[in-house]
Amino acid sequence: MGNYILALDQGTTSSRAIVFDRQGQIAAKAQHPFRQIYPQAGWVEHDPMNIWHSERLAASEAISDFAPGDIAGIGVTNQRETTILWDKNTGEPVYNAIVWQCRRTAELCEQLKRDGLTERVENATGLLIDAYFSGTKIRWILDNVPGARERAERGELLFGTVETWLIWQLTGSHVTDYSNACRTMLFDIRRLCWDEELCAILDIPMSVLPRPVGNSEVYGYVRADIPGLEKLAGVPVCGAAGDQQSALFGQACFAEGDAKNTYGTGCFTLMNVGAQPVRSRAGLVSSVGWHVNGQTTYVLEGSVFNGGSTIQWVRDELQLIQSAPEINTLAAEVPNSGGVVLVPAFTGLGAPYWDMYARGALLGITRGTNRAHIARAVLECIAYQVTDLMMAMRQDAGCDITRLRVDGGASVSDILLQMQADLLRIEVDRPTMVETTAFGAAALAGLSCGVWRDLNELSGLRHSQRVFRPERTQSECDQEYRLWKRAVGRAADWIEH
Ligand code: ADP
Repeated sequence: MGNYILALDQGTTSSRAIVFDRQGQIAAKAQHPFRQIYPQAGWVEHDPMNIWHSERLAASEAISDFAPGDIAGIGVTNQRETTILWDKNTGEPVYNAIVWQCRRTAELCEQLKRDGLTERVENATGLLIDAYFSGTKIRWILDNVPGARERAERGELLFGTVETWLIWQLTGSHVTDYSNACRTMLFDIRRLCWDEELCAILDIPMSVLPRPVGNSEVYGYVRADIPGLEKLAGVPVCGAAGDQQSALFGQACFAEGDAKNTYGTGCFTLMNVGAQPVRSRAGLVSSVGWHVNGQTTYVLEGSVFNGGSTIQWVRDELQLIQSAPEINTLAAEVPNSGGVVLVPAFTGLGAPYWDMYARGALLGITRGTNRAHIARAVLECIAYQVTDLMMAMRQDAGCDITRLRVDGGASVSDILLQMQADLLRIEVDRPTMVETTAFGAAALAGLSCGVWRDLNELSGLRHSQRVFRPERTQSECDQEYRLWKRAVGRAADWIEH
């Protein structure tokens, strides 16, 4: 049997492929960016063929030094919620992929809320009604592309999020894993099946929907006729998960109460809540984390719109720094922010505030405030927002969180992670291998094809690069966190509506 697993990591701005060895180390990787399409303000699309070809190219480059038989299995992880419909006979997409960020169905979502469906949707799917999720995007394509609804009703069209699309291209199977299915607003997260009534309410014919499957099982085998992937012919595609759940799995957060945060453009915090979904009272959403060996693990998820993007704002708009890493040297020039607090509500505030009318604010400025204080306030506001999410999780799940595992571009900042440990009063743990999203998919695939035995073995493959522990006093940190809360209050409900 092969000793390597290929992970396909199809993200929002690029398609990546990484080959992992049995030690969980990276043996090869390749990456191809692809085209973003903005047809009008607030709309975001991708070309589905472009997604597939860029991923195929990345895979073919990543395996170029490997022989047929080296790759034991393939795992897929993907940008979630992005919606594709295609013709099941010709494979031709009926419209561009509507990307998760796209707001075109916001009005339809408002209508669903006015129709009193909030509770109904939340009970079944664990989600809030929002344009972010796939359901209303499918509906938009069926309503707006000429002939699409008739073709769907004749059983000629298939729907898929990106993992479904890639697995269909690779193997011909039409499946979606539970962690992706539960982001459609059509999936019952307890019964693990499509919710027929919600499909009827959204007027989506069930014949377009893929078969929901577990996260670590064989979905199909790679076809022999894919250009550049001939070496993979017959290899099982045997693991899949949406990017955030995949990162949680890749960070080996296998126990209840384990949590991870990804410090990217935005921040995504996910916490393993065990075998039963938890209903959030604090504006978080519930999803399936993974279903492995017949057992379902649920998660609570919260996201912050502006995390690392705040650093980009300081670089590109304020021009206080020339590159992102400089934020750390500048912030290190002062011991604290001198009472300055930044609320980066550039596009409103996400969980747990859900205030689309909030706008950014820089508070507490004095005549002595300088660039370094602002740089420090930038890093602090990222840590404060993640603290908000973690507090909400603690409250909702009613269990203690003992440590936070971290990844993403801004997790290289030691200052940021030290602030995070001080605020949360727990260990913040950065791994040596930071490709946790891709590794999660590889781990799920490797479990099902026998490269790895069990979760214990996978836990042993994760190594901490550095663990940050609280250093400052609790009262000092609590006082600063209270200042943050007051600042959020000032930025709240700012624009007139
Ligand atoms: P995404 O996947 O969301 O596009 P990444 O995980 O690649 O984002 O993270 C990118 C973010 O990381 C950027 O917003 C940038 O500000 C931040 N970043 C990159 N390098 C550093 C650094 N050395 N210190 C702090 N932040 C950084």
